[in-house]
Amino acid sequence: MTWVLKLEEVCDGKIIRRQNVMTIEQPSSIDTVDDIGLRSHDAKRLLSAIQQAVATSQFKRDAQHRSTCRGCGKPQTIKDYRSRNINTLYGRITARCPRFTCSLCGLAALPMLERSTTEFDEIRAKLAAYLPFRVASNVLTTLLPADSGVTHTTIRNRTAQVAAELERKDALSCVSSNSSKATELILGLDTGFVRSTTPAIARHHGVLVGCVEHQETRRYFTARRKLPP
Ligand SMILES: [Zn+2]
Repeated sequence: MTWVLKLEEVCDGKIIRRQNVMTIEQPSSIDTVDDIGLRSHDAKRLLSAIQQAVATSQFKRDAQHRSTCRGCGKPQTIKDYRSRNINTLYGRITARCPRFTCSLCGLAALPMLERSTTEFDEIRAKLAAYLPFRVASNVLTTLLPADSGVTHTTIRNRTAQVAAELERKDALSCVSSNSSKATELILGLDTGFVRSTTPAIARHHGVLVGCVEHQETRRYFTARRKLPP
């Protein structure tokens, strides 16, 4: 049995474009439980195909909107093309975007886009916070069609970038809040031990966790305690 997935683009209630996204082959008889429904590789192909189809259409519409000069309102001509490669949770999006130029206003710049979506960055950082980088990479490639930006080294580097950005924002908020000096601070501290993951080594790591409260603001911090030998 063959299933054909069709995608329809609707504008103002009218279908303006229809395309076949993919076909799925399924057995017509159910002999085992594994014959029912989609498999993992079908679902991943499905998500990836829809992601690319939707993004391609969006880039196409965006190019149509930008073909008119925003400065003088005249039609522009295409100067050249630039490739876009954006990593997403549902696969890498590739697009070929025209750069337009106006005879009066000159070359129109393409919008600056990150190399990966914010959602993809957040998911990678969240997994990396709970799992080793290699395990986080394996989880992503097992469950999702993400095929780029999912190596353990990329996850480690992107997580470090996200952490640096958070620290920068945190530092900025601290500087901006220094204008009102705190009259009262509530400090909470606790300690604990984390057992070594290597059974052969009977070693514990001492950790210190704390919380500082000031009015409506609450900040947490952790530190590793140096234990006596
Ligand atoms: Zn112009």
